[in-house]
Parts: sequence; structure tokens; C-alpha cells
Amino acid sequence: MKVTIVGMWNSFPKYSEPTSGCLMQKNGVNLLIDAGSGVAGQVQKYVDIHTIDHIFLTHYHHDHAGDIQAFVLARKLAREHKKTDRNLKVYGPEGGLPVREIRRARYSTFQPIRAQKTYTVGPFKLEFHRNEHSTETYAIRVTDDTGAVLVYTSDTCYRGSLVRFAFGADLLITDCRLYEGYDGKVEGHMNAEEAGRLASKADATETILTNLPHHGALEVLLDSAKQHRVKKIRLAEAGMQVEI
Ligand SMILES: [Zn+2]
Repeated sequence: MKVTIVGMWNSFPKYSEPTSGCLMQKNGVNLLIDAGSGVAGQVQKYVDIHTIDHIFLTHYHHDHAGDIQAFVLARKLAREHKKTDRNLKVYGPEGGLPVREIRRARYSTFQPIRAQKTYTVGPFKLEFHRNEHSTETYAIRVTDDTGAVLVYTSDTCYRGSLVRFAFGADLLITDCRLYEGYDGKVEGHMNAEEAGRLASKADATETILTNLPHHGALEVLLDSAKQHRVKKIRLAEAGMQVEI
């Protein structure tokens, strides 16, 4: 599968660099995980927006789901102008205003995600892990038809169960919201040391640090993560593409 980091900032986008969004492509199937602010515009650098038929939202914080209504409206217009004959399928935690809005929308459908549930979308199988965050949030494990594995943690504290969920990933895209020394348990995120520990214990072949803070020197995050024995590891950049 081809994986594109559409955006990687925490909280708010920068010019041409969105908050969280990750595009997966294989065999003509385009699947998006998270639609944070800025993603609906910038994803069109890589793919026709009307060909993204499946969007998985890990939770409804603005920097992960703020653009979902743009996708819903784009699909409504595309259907009305006969640019596609398919509905948009949105998946996410059950409940709350975003879910009600998606369910009300024409040409979009909503399906819940939860631990133990799996979905198959074209060549992709998706599994979910309940995170420890300030709202109901899931990590997602995507396995394609060749067995290649992407794990996207979304926002979460470090958890032993997440190590097991991520184990053996070919590509791990992990929350790295905090600098080392900040208490991830308080913040509901991982600091850089914890992100590196997750990458090491999960034995990930390649790791990308994402959900990056706007303050400080980002290279320090990388140095903190590298205190653990990790394989290839780098900071997320908008437009970064990896084939796994
Ligand atoms: Zn969040």
C-alpha cells in the first residue's frame, strides 16, 4: 500500500500543512484516516477528493475530524453533479454531534468503530484498539492483501496493550505530541520517549512521529525517541509518502 502523510500538526494547521490526516491507496481504493483541519484541501494534491469513499475518524477532536463536513458536502455536490455514483462511508466512535450530522447528510453513511470490530475495505482489513485519551479514541491497524501492516496510533497515552496491537508493524505512525519530561498520562498523549519505547517494543520496521507540537525544536523529539533501540524513525512531514 502507498501511505501519504497529508498532515501532522497538533491543534491547528499551518499554511499548506494540515493537522492529522493519513491517506492509504492500493488497487484503486483510497482510504483516509482522520480528516483534521486543512486535510480536505491538501489531500487533493494527491488524489481526486471524489474518489475517497471511506474515511475512518479515530475521534472527534478538531485536529482529527474538523474537516469531515467538507468531505460530506463535497460528496453531496459530487452526487448531485454526477461526478460519482457512490456514497461516502464514514466510520468513527458512536455518539455525539459529528455522528448525528453525518447520519443526517445525503449521500454519506456512518458506521461505528469499536475494539473487537473489523472492517474490510477493498484490499484493506482494519482493526481497532481503544486508546487512553480525553475522549473515546481508537488506534487503527491496517493490513493489506499482501500482509503489509500500518499502525496509526492517533492520540493516546502509552499503554502495554498498544504495544501488542502495534507489534510487527511495517510502518508505525505514532502520537508524539509531547517533549520528554511531560507526563503523557496527564495530557492523554505520548511524549517522545514513550513514542520511541512503543516503536522499540512493537519492533516496528519504520516509525513516523506525528501529531507534532507547534513549539520547541522538533529534532529534540527525534533524539528522545532514539534513546530506545528503534529501526528507521523520522518526523512526519506533509506530503511524505511510504510504500509498504
Ligand atoms: Zn485528541
